[in-house]
Amino acid sequence: MRTLLVRLTAALLLSPVAAGVAASDEEPLPADPALVTGTLPSGLTYIIRPHKNPEGRVSIWLHVASGSLNETDTTRGIAHFLEHMAFNGSANFPAGSVVPFFQSLGLAFGRDQNAFTGFDQTTYQLTLPGGSRGLLEKGMLFMSDVAGRLALATPEIDSERQIILEEKRARAGARQRVQDQVNERLAPESTLGRRLPIGAEETIKSVTRQDFVDYYSRWYVPSNMTVIVVGDTDPAMVAEVITQQFSGGRTVATPTRRDVGVKSTATSRAIVVTDPELTRAEVSIARLEPPRGPVTTVGQRRREVVERIGIWTFDRRMSAEIAAGRVAFLETDASVEEWPGTMRMITAGASGRPGTWRAMLKDLGIGLQRARLHGFTDREIQDARVAILADAEDAVRREATRPSREVLRDLNRDVTRGVRPMSAAQKLTLLQRLLPGITAREVSDAFAATFDPSRAMFIAELPATDDVPSEADLLALGRSAVAVSRSTSPTTATSMGASVTSRRSHACAAGRVMARTCSTVNDWGRTSPRG
Ligand SMILES: [Zn+2]
Repeated sequence: MRTLLVRLTAALLLSPVAAGVAASDEEPLPADPALVTGTLPSGLTYIIRPHKNPEGRVSIWLHVASGSLNETDTTRGIAHFLEHMAFNGSANFPAGSVVPFFQSLGLAFGRDQNAFTGFDQTTYQLTLPGGSRGLLEKGMLFMSDVAGRLALATPEIDSERQIILEEKRARAGARQRVQDQVNERLAPESTLGRRLPIGAEETIKSVTRQDFVDYYSRWYVPSNMTVIVVGDTDPAMVAEVITQQFSGGRTVATPTRRDVGVKSTATSRAIVVTDPELTRAEVSIARLEPPRGPVTTVGQRRREVVERIGIWTFDRRMSAEIAAGRVAFLETDASVEEWPGTMRMITAGASGRPGTWRAMLKDLGIGLQRARLHGFTDREIQDARVAILADAEDAVRREATRPSREVLRDLNRDVTRGVRPMSAAQKLTLLQRLLPGITAREVSDAFAATFDPSRAMFIAELPATDDVPSEADLLALGRSAVAVSRSTSPTTATSMGASVTSRRSHACAAGRVMARTCSTVNDWGRTSPRG
């Protein structure tokens, strides 16, 4: 209530009202006061958060803002390969000594010491069995070796090749294989599809020590790294240890990441992917557009919340359809995913039993277009507000006791996105301020624009034994599924059947294909190989 009064007053003083809104739009988002943060003269940034679950333990993550997208055609897989080399010899940890050293401190490799490489990052993780200065120094010594003092010796590189190739073979479950194939085809004009983090067999076999040195010296510079520490310890002491262990790195400007070259989806097309071991069929309507960049102001955050309400409401509608048995699919998922510096991917997807994908695609198209053309009701938006606020209140209650791994994951995600982490209470306060002013019209308009399927990719991921279409057939079916005109009578969440009928009568007669597409997709993770 106080917030509303403040906003009202501001609007009166700054009339016209638009001026008041614009001013608050530019207001920077607050930063979590529980964090201790800093940047060393070398450019290395650190984020420290005291946290007592579990008690007596401290985790250190070293986030290197470079992953497979920074590779070249001849060094595919080197970001992940280098991640392995971090455990194979450095100034203070000769080859073969890292694992025994940390085991002697009580750590288990894989559980307390790990790393992962994704498209846009390589992150090293260490969980120490205590928060003493001595332990922190040992852990930080290893991390600072990783950051700047790896040996990258040819014999160790050669003996690791087989391990990487083995990992490449072992990781390829049906889901992964299908996801790789889709990723390879999402943006053929770009390098995206040729930069899967696991790499290619020929380059895994051929990369040389010089390739490693080149990659390492270009991307592993302090200004491109963040040390994240979460645990039961004294933040001031941790900051001292970081300053001590990481001083002396090369001071160079943050390297500019390679241009991936993803273009907005310009024409409709279809992607059909099959695998003999898939047990479910999935269809999606997906679209790529330029990334928006980090969300740093209240106005940008508000736009994100508006989008989130639309997605929440759409998903809830679809869940109700599924529960009532009115649609062919068993699950749906709408999402907007920002790949920092690369793209925004907008997807509406559905999955279900093999043999039903044609009906699934049709029902998905109808559900999506119904939401786009007729919008959401005030009642639906009010339900979303209540649910989103309840979530945020729950997050405030859980904040102090949630597992540190979650805290680390969230901080790491914020680092990846280039945003300042906020506390749960700050997020709640902001939602309390923003939600009352967000209208059904606004949410509906934003959803309609975001999920426009006029230029979209229709993606089918099917068991090999399913009724597999040609891509031309899928494209025709996809276009037909989203060819729902506005003159279709509005429906309520309980009248999907009526909507189907009217869609049929209008879609072909109208002859105007809705020029918008929305996107679908599977969960294509950004963090791929582990270990
Ligand atoms: Zn690995």
